[in-house]
Amino acid sequence: MIPFDVFPSVCRLAGSVTGRSRGEHTVIYGRKFATGLTALALGALTACNGAPSPGGSPVGGGGGARPPTAAADGPSRASRNLPNDRSLRGKVIVVDPGHNGGNGGNPSYINRQVDVINGRKACDTTGTATASGYSEAAFNWDVSTRLVKELRARGARVLLTRTNNTGVGPCITERAAIGNRAKADAAVSVHADGARPSARGFHIIQPGRLRGHNDKIIAPSARLGRALRDAYRAGTGVPYSNYLGANAIDTRTDLGGLNLSTVPKVFIECGNMKNPGEAAKFTDPKFRQRVADSLADGFTAYFNG
Ligand SMILES: [Zn+2]
Repeated sequence: MIPFDVFPSVCRLAGSVTGRSRGEHTVIYGRKFATGLTALALGALTACNGAPSPGGSPVGGGGGARPPTAAADGPSRASRNLPNDRSLRGKVIVVDPGHNGGNGGNPSYINRQVDVINGRKACDTTGTATASGYSEAAFNWDVSTRLVKELRARGARVLLTRTNNTGVGPCITERAAIGNRAKADAAVSVHADGARPSARGFHIIQPGRLRGHNDKIIAPSARLGRALRDAYRAGTGVPYSNYLGANAIDTRTDLGGLNLSTVPKVFIECGNMKNPGEAAKFTDPKFRQRVADSLADGFTAYFNG
């Protein structure tokens, strides 16, 4: 969602927030991607720099939301050994699933203001949801974990900005810092929009120039955005947005996740969760796997094009 105020949130708020603050660890996916929280906790992950995000403590019990298991949806593209596997070997990619499932219950954590260079914004937001209640945070998490698996199968080292969909945050500042600390080759923030029901289609958000801050990432981010756009449309069939951007590319200077990035980065709004047709797609696991495959193809094109 793209409100028209000076420093808008990325996505429309799904509802009011109440409760108390919790924290969130950042993780690095190891060589063997895990599909269950137990495996996530036990072996496949390493704490990013060994430290929780500011103000945070480890999120306990994430047992409520198990990451998706691609096995239920058939073999992924990479597991079928298509020619482009290994094409991302040596690349470091950050995948940032927007929002978090616990954000809505923790207003004191997510509503605190953080510096985004040209202003201050909320640490994080709750995201939107379909009319039936499928949350954007859950969609982002599911797509992102599928994407991580696909990218890793192609040889990339991949970092996620959160460990599950039951925690809180991290703040947009930390989401950017994760990629910066890793000196990532590229980063993507995965979102879905909450526009009027008649609006449809997807769009990429690329960083606008903030002189003296992000000059170096403008050109590569634009290339990354075009690569992801082309692959996403080809792979999913979702049309270009009919309500934002030009040919599905929008440029913004109000998003902390882009303003603060020192590595090439874009956001993707995968479609409009308030549009019934797109909501039906988003709630289909097979479609979400197509989203992940398409975005992996986009990264492959970016690094090999
Ligand atoms: Zn969002």
